[in-house]
Amino acid sequence: MGQHNNAAPETFQGIGVSPGIAAGVPKWLRKEAAAVIERREIDSSEVAAEVNRFQAAVAETKRQIEQVRASVERDIGEEEAKVFDAHLSFLADPAYVGEIERKIQSERLNAEAACQDVTDQTREMLASLPNEYLQARADDIRDVGQRLVQCLMGGTGQTDVSGWDTHTILVADELMPSDLSALPKNVVGLITAKGSKTAHTAIMARTLGLPAVYGLGDAIHEISEDEAVILNGDAGTVVVHPMEEDVQAAMEAAARRGEELRRAREAAQQPAETTDGVRIDVFANIGGLQDLDAALANGADGVGLFRTEFLYLENDHWPTEEEQYEVYRKALEAFGTRPVVIRTLDIGGDKALPYAALPSEENPFLGLRAIRYCLQQVDVFRTQLRALLRASAHGTLWIMFPMVETLDELRAARKHLEECRQQLANEGYAMAEHIPVGIMVETPAAAVTADILAKEADFFSIGTNDLTQYTLAADRGNADVANLYQPSHPAVLRLIHQTCKAAQAAGIPVGMCGEFAGDPEFTELLVGLGLQELSMSASFIPSVKGKVKATERAAAARLADEVVKLSSPEEVRAYLQQR
Ligand code: PEP
Ligand code: MG
Repeated sequence: MGQHNNAAPETFQGIGVSPGIAAGVPKWLRKEAAAVIERREIDSSEVAAEVNRFQAAVAETKRQIEQVRASVERDIGEEEAKVFDAHLSFLADPAYVGEIERKIQSERLNAEAACQDVTDQTREMLASLPNEYLQARADDIRDVGQRLVQCLMGGTGQTDVSGWDTHTILVADELMPSDLSALPKNVVGLITAKGSKTAHTAIMARTLGLPAVYGLGDAIHEISEDEAVILNGDAGTVVVHPMEEDVQAAMEAAARRGEELRRAREAAQQPAETTDGVRIDVFANIGGLQDLDAALANGADGVGLFRTEFLYLENDHWPTEEEQYEVYRKALEAFGTRPVVIRTLDIGGDKALPYAALPSEENPFLGLRAIRYCLQQVDVFRTQLRALLRASAHGTLWIMFPMVETLDELRAARKHLEECRQQLANEGYAMAEHIPVGIMVETPAAAVTADILAKEADFFSIGTNDLTQYTLAADRGNADVANLYQPSHPAVLRLIHQTCKAAQAAGIPVGMCGEFAGDPEFTELLVGLGLQELSMSASFIPSVKGKVKATERAAAARLADEVVKLSSPEEVRAYLQQR
């Protein structure tokens, strides 16, 4: 492993985008490729040949991307492979390819430079748009542009991996999806200067189980290819000039963690029961079909929250009934007899949808969001309900309405559902006979009147992300009040307790799908408060199942009775740790 150059170890902070520890020899994927692109004026007699050369590069790039797409589909997944459809569409877009040709012809610029200029312009334009989906396409065009330039310069599009150590940490200014498509097996971690948790490649890294730290900034230049580094994807740190014994310890920790994860995942394939024989369902939260594989691999007993808004956010138009039906059907088929709780559109608040023309509001979180929006935009709502009802024939569907706080809202939503069911039955569609219809409890109003709502809801799922912000009047996304935003605040815990008791009295199931549900530190408390189902990001399932198996429900209930009497989140945490 690389030589220690006697400099003192130094730790740099980035963003942990994929958990785990890794130690290895860094390899730069590419260093500012843009700096070496030649720029020259071509003679008018060369123009036709230059355009031909460019067209050949387009054809070769297309061939390479198709190859990459196939290998990603095989090794990572169908959803991840779809990223490359966007890449291919740029190569067929006259506004991009045609513009490069025009630049070669009218400005007599060599193809590499024309390609770089048009790519940069398009990228800047996309990045400036107020839509996350289109912003993400800015990364796509960069990836395509880089590949085109590489082809023009005679590159093969393959990274030269000869001489890479058995433990390689890939270092890059920024990673593109195609960089991860054919990653050699000896790559054990990723470090980048730029990028965020939501980058396509961050999601791919999590799927691949590769620890990654992004956003290291200029500190990335402290990394030398001659010396090993240690990265911690949980803490978001990178240690340069580490001591040899620390590198060894990190490698051992990584191996142990890999083995523990493998065992925990294996154990998680079975349902979890408490020591006194109470089954607690541990479900996955998903944002789309791309999350299904991880949910299944981690042993999800079902899906507790399918956030359908991503289907809308990823599109530049209202998803049609048919488009939605296909997605819901695939999710239901993947889980068969296990329940899939699909939440109807939760838009508004911090989730803006450009084509929805949402009103500009002073307090969007207190405004026209979730079920409130859907009950006003009936066509949007009914399109989704029809798609859901049709998909119900293919699995075990539960439908959940977000942000319900009055019986009137629940009744109105149910009425639309019933009317859609009638319509579809008349049109001859098959549907499940019984579809449980529940609500999210995510406002103090819903929690306090849970006994009333329980009479007409078939199940509850407590959304602690919102319940916490509304109870404590602390915006969930505002770093300045992050210290106040604590789901373990006794005020929130009492509302959870009250909701669970109301559900039990009415004989309906109650679960939780906010982030709090996935924190193993609180599993025993949550079981004690009365939750029968916990739903979370797939990677937390194995450890939460492990905690459930170590919990005695009766003792947990006594614990919960004590904890709700405490006065602060700090006291709650101290009390739990002391046990
Ligand atoms: C919640 O509010 O806890 C929840 C799960 O919904 P979202 O995070 O999508 O608002
Ligand atoms: Mg919510």
